[in-house]
Order: sequence, then structure tokens, then C-alpha cells
Amino acid sequence: MLPVSQAEKIILSLVQPLSEIETVDLTLATGRILARSISSQVDFPHWDNSAMDGYAVKFSDVRSSTPKHPITLEVVEEIPAGYQPQREIQSGEAARIFTGAIVPAGADTIVMQEHTQRVQKTFVKIQITPTAKSFIRQRGEYAKVGDPLLAAGTVLNPAEIAILAATGCSEVKVYRRPRVAILSTGDELVTPDRALKPGQIVDSNQYALAAFVQQAGGIPICLGIIPDDRSKLTAAMSEAIDSADLVLSTGGVSVGDYDYVEEILAELGGDIRVRAVAIKPGKPLTVAKFKRDTRSIVYFGLPGNPVSALVSCWRFVQPAMAKLAGLPKSNWQPTWIEAMTSQNLTADGKRETYLWGKLELVEGRYQFSLAGGNHSSANLINLAGTNALVMIPVDVSSIEAGTSIRVLII
Ligand code: AMP
Ligand code: MG
Repeated sequence: MLPVSQAEKIILSLVQPLSEIETVDLTLATGRILARSISSQVDFPHWDNSAMDGYAVKFSDVRSSTPKHPITLEVVEEIPAGYQPQREIQSGEAARIFTGAIVPAGADTIVMQEHTQRVQKTFVKIQITPTAKSFIRQRGEYAKVGDPLLAAGTVLNPAEIAILAATGCSEVKVYRRPRVAILSTGDELVTPDRALKPGQIVDSNQYALAAFVQQAGGIPICLGIIPDDRSKLTAAMSEAIDSADLVLSTGGVSVGDYDYVEEILAELGGDIRVRAVAIKPGKPLTVAKFKRDTRSIVYFGLPGNPVSALVSCWRFVQPAMAKLAGLPKSNWQPTWIEAMTSQNLTADGKRETYLWGKLELVEGRYQFSLAGGNHSSANLINLAGTNALVMIPVDVSSIEAGTSIRVLII
């Protein structure tokens, strides 16, 4: 049995990041991963502009202005946003200006509207001593033309989408999404629309894994239920390997008489690198690497129990998906948070143990509470509403309430 950290290392070493690139419309790029770095096409801001509604003035004209002795200037132009100023401000002059509008030549300071008083139509009184250069956003202050804005491997969230739009990209080059084949093995499995006969259960894994793959940025290819039949399983696994970058099958990886997955992986030419991991739940994890022409495929034979299958995904498939998808190394690890356990925790101490529950911020500190009910790997019901897994290391069999613990965000 491999320790968890070693299994994770091996798995990551088997994954080759996808290099194929596709161009997508910016409106459809949310959550995608940038394939080419982007540098600025323009200066940000594009020109010196006003940060306030007010008056553009020469500081030298108003440096001695005070509320008691305001200086009066002639208003020679009105400059709304989107308007190109037509004249240079001369000594004794001001321009009415609005937020975002171009600061006219000759002006070097903006006085807020609230500190002015308009006199008739053509004059304004400056009722404070302004600070030189105040309320001007300088051209190129945020970024200059040619400055790097976004690195390849960046996930496109709303902020990055805004930056791309602002620098003139209406389309963007992203890595193609990983294609992930999903198959469920087991004679006992049926689809959710079928009435259960004795001994049958619904193939919930197919749906759980498809949801997981979508959340991880992949495209699920659902290949359905495959009975515990050697030739049918061989055909389905072969199809999966041919059609995907990653394969997730559940069931058939234990030591039972009908557990054929490992044998078939070997027959199909897979290099089996993980056979079992010292983790609970999820010990019977099989991972193999395939080569098909120039493609490389990683096959995960996950345990059939619904919680085991999902925990294996969160702990091992997630990092593999992150690397495959083109994320930088710093993003491959699951997200860990240090929290305080609100209950005593117990484990057998032999395997790295994961228990599911809820992470909440309580008085400024993260607190983890176990899900109620039975913590069996067959019980998917009490996974509802959970958002984290607490990790109990090997050789630790009890942790007292109030102790600091590591929690994996799911
Ligand atoms: P196996 O790993 O094939 O021995 O399956 C272990 C347990 O997980 C058995 O109780 C199965 O009925 C259950 N199981 C296997 N596959 C699925 C699935 N696709 N959906 C839900 N439960 C499953
Ligand atoms: Mg089975």
C-alpha cells in the first residue's frame, strides 16, 4: 500500500498537460485556462483623466486659494467623459470636468465640485487650498503598453475577463478542456429511472463523477453501466481509453471474484503504477498509464463505494485534472485549510483517514464539524451539505476537540 503523498506524486508524474489550444469568444471563456500570456495593448489609464466631478485648473493659479479668500477662475470649457478637450487651459482659466473625462492640456489639478461655487455661468470660486496634481489618474499609472497582464495558465474569472476585454481581446486562446470518460462497473447497477429489483442499486457514481469532472473544468463522457463481464468490460475500457484524456471507472478494483479491472488494464497494455493506497476511505485505487499514438491517457480505477469514489476524486483526481488542464504547478494541490475541530476525532491510525463535514468561520476562526450519521464509505446520504474533509494522519488515532487540524476543501 502506497502512502497518500507517494501515490499523489506518482499520479502527478503520469499526467502530461494538454497542449492543444482553442479560441473562444470572451463571453464563453469564464473558468477556462489561458493558453498564451497577454500583455497590454494600451496604457491604463489611456490618458490623464479626472477621478472626480469638478474643475480642472492650474495649481499655480489656486495655491493660495482658501475658504475665506477663494480665487475665482473663468470656466472656458465643459469636458464630459468621452469628449476630447478643444483648448489648452491658460492662467486664470478652469474647465468643468466629469469623472473619467480627459484632463485638458495646461491643467494639472482637479478640484472637487464640492469645494467650488459656480458664479454666474462663466466663473467658479475655488473654496479650498487644493493639493497639487490631486484627483488626476495619470496615463499609464496602472499599466503601460507592453506590460504583462496575464500569464499563461491563469484561470479566467470575472476580473481576468474584464482585463482581457479592456485590452481589446474579444476572443481568447485557452487550453482545450480535458475529456474524461466515466464508466460504472457492476452487475447490481441500474440507471435512476428504473425500479429497483432485489439486490440492485442505482448507479449514483456516474452522476457524481460527471458533476465532479464538470466542476474540475473537464468534459465528462458518460459511458454508462458495464456489467461484471470480462469481454464487455474489456470493450468498454478500451473504448474509454481511445476516446478520452483521463478515464474514471468505479467498482471492480477490490479483491473479489468479479473484480476484473486491474487484469484488464494489464491486458490492454496499461502500465499499472498504483494498486492500493493507505487511505480511508478509498484504499483499492488503481492507476495506470496508457500510450496511444502520441496521446497519453491516465486511467483511474476507483473504488465502487460512493463516498470512496468521491474522496478518491477530491484527493487524487483533482490534482491530476489540474495538471492536465494546464494550470501551473502551484495550483495542482487540493486546497488545504487549517481549522479547529469542534469534536473529538478517531481513526484506526493505520491509514490516512478522511472524514467529511462542515467547515465554518466561527468568531474569526475556521471550525470543522463532522457530518452527523454513519461515516461508512457506502453512506452517501450524510455527504449532503458537507464542504470539507478532515485529514487524520497515519499513526494518529485520536484528536481532541479544540485541536488544530488540516482540512481539505471539497
Ligand atoms: P465494488 O468496488 O465493485 O466491490 O463495489 C463496492 C460497493 O460500491 C458495492 O456495494 C457496490 O454496490 C457499490 N457501488 C459500486 N458501483 C457503484 C456505483 N456506480 N454507484 C453506486 N454504488 C456503487
Ligand atoms: Mg462491483
